[in-house]
Amino acid sequence: MSNNSAAPLRVAKFGGTSVADFDAMNRSADIILANPAVRLVVLSASAGVTNVLVALSEGNEAERRAYYLDEIRRIQYSIIDRLAEQTVIREEIDRMIDNIAMLAEAAGLATSLALTDELVSHGELMSTLLFVEVLRQRGVAAAWFDVRKVMRTNDQFGRAEPDSHMLKAQTRTLLLPRLESELVITQGFIGSEAKGRTTTLGRGGSDYTAALLGEALEAGRIDIWTDVPGIYTTDPRVVPQAKRIDEISFEEAAEMATFGAKILHPATLLPAVRSAIPVFVGSSKDPGAGGTLVYNHTDNPPLFRALALRRRQTLLTLHSLNMLHARGFLAEVFNILARHAISVDLITTSEVSVALTMDTTGSTTTGASLLTQALLTELSSLCRVEVEEDLALVALIGNKLSQACGVGKEVFGVLDPFNIRLICYGASSHNLCLLVPGGDAEQVVRTLHGALFD
Ligand code: ADP
Ligand code: ASP
Ligand code: MG
Repeated sequence: MSNNSAAPLRVAKFGGTSVADFDAMNRSADIILANPAVRLVVLSASAGVTNVLVALSEGNEAERRAYYLDEIRRIQYSIIDRLAEQTVIREEIDRMIDNIAMLAEAAGLATSLALTDELVSHGELMSTLLFVEVLRQRGVAAAWFDVRKVMRTNDQFGRAEPDSHMLKAQTRTLLLPRLESELVITQGFIGSEAKGRTTTLGRGGSDYTAALLGEALEAGRIDIWTDVPGIYTTDPRVVPQAKRIDEISFEEAAEMATFGAKILHPATLLPAVRSAIPVFVGSSKDPGAGGTLVYNHTDNPPLFRALALRRRQTLLTLHSLNMLHARGFLAEVFNILARHAISVDLITTSEVSVALTMDTTGSTTTGASLLTQALLTELSSLCRVEVEEDLALVALIGNKLSQACGVGKEVFGVLDPFNIRLICYGASSHNLCLLVPGGDAEQVVRTLHGALFD
C-alpha cells in the first residue's frame, strides 16, 4: 500500500450490469485489484433490482408483492449461492429483503416519495454488501461504507440535490482516513437529508455519486465501468455502426449526457468539470478494450461529435394574444415554471406564442412526469396551453456549430422524410436540437449518423 500512497486516488464506479451476478462481480473485482490507486468503489444495484423496487414502491396487492420479492431473491441469491461461505451474508440479505417487504406493504396502503426512496435504496445497500463479501472471500480486506453518512442532500425525494460543501467536510472526516488503510465499497444513487431520511439522486444517479465523491476526495481520476467500452458517436444499441470516441472534452461529453446519452447521468460531469478531474468510461466486460477519456482538452475538436437521443419529451405551446407587442408575458411564464421547480430546456418564440420543453435532467427516480395538473392550471390562467406528448429530442453535439456554414443543409438535407416539430440552433455553439415524433426518433438518429458520421 505504502508505495502507492503518493499516487492520486481513483474512484471507480460499477453500474448495474457490472454487479449483475457473481461472474460480473468478480470481473469488476479483477479491475479494482489490478489498480491499487482505486481506493473507493461506488456501486449501483444489481441489474434489474432498482426497477423491481420502483414497482414495489408504487403499491401492490400481496400476490404481486410476493412475485416482486421473489424476483429480488432470485437475483441476489444467485450471487450468494456461488460463495463458499454463505450463512452470514444470506442472513444479512434476508434482513434487507424483510425490510423491503415491510416497506412495500406500507406502500400498498399509502405511497409517498420518502417511502419510495427508502425502499429503492435497498438495491445499492444489497449490492454493496454482496460485493464486500465477494472481495473478502477472495482474501481482500474491503470495508462496507454507508454513503448516507456523507452524501447530504436536500429533501427533494426522488430527485435530491447533494450539498457538495457538506459532502466535502463529511468525506474528509469520515471517509478519507479509512481509505488509507482499506479499500472502501459504497453505494451510488442514495443519500440522506437533514433529518436523516434516505433520498435518491434520480435514475442512473450512481455516476453522479462517483463524480461527487471524486471531487470531495480530490481524486486524480474517476472511472465509470459499464457495459460498453466507452462513449460512442451515438448509442450503439440504436446505431450499431457508431464509433468509439477515444478522447472528448468535458463540454462535449456534458452536452451528450444532458441531452440523453444514458452512458452518463446528466449531472455526472458537473463536479468533474468544476475540479478538472478526468473521467474514464470503459466496459467491465472487456477492460482490455480501452475506453473514452473525458477531460479538458481541445485538440482539433470536430465540427460534428455525436448524436444524443432523449425520449418521452413533452412540448408545451402557450398562446396568448396579450403577447402581441406586450411586455412581461415570458417573465410571468418563467415565474410560474420556477415556482413548480421546472427549468426550461428548448424554447422558441413567435409574436403570439411560445413553445418550450422541460428540462428532464436529473429526472425523478420513479419516472413521474414533471408536468403536473397544478402547473397546467396555473399556466392556463395566463394563456391557452397546448400539450403535445410522445416527442423525442435529437441533439447533434459538436463544436463551433453556430459559427460554421452549411450545417443546416447537411442536417436538414437528409431529414426531408420527417416532420421536425421544433428546432433550436444558435444559442450554444455545442449543439443543434430537434424535436421529432417519438416513433421517428431512432430513424432520424440513424439517418443523421449515416450522413454525418459514417
Ligand atoms: P450502467 O448501468 O453501467 O450505468 P447504463 O445502462 O446506465 O449503464 O448506460 C450504458 C448504456 O448507455 C449503454 O448500454 C448504451 O446503450 C447507452 N448509451 C447511450 N448513448 C451512448 C453513447 N453515446 N455511447 C455509449 N453508450 C451509450
Ligand atoms: N440503481 C439506480 C438506477 O437503476 C442508480 C444507478 O444505477 O445509477 O437508476
Ligand atoms: Mg447508468
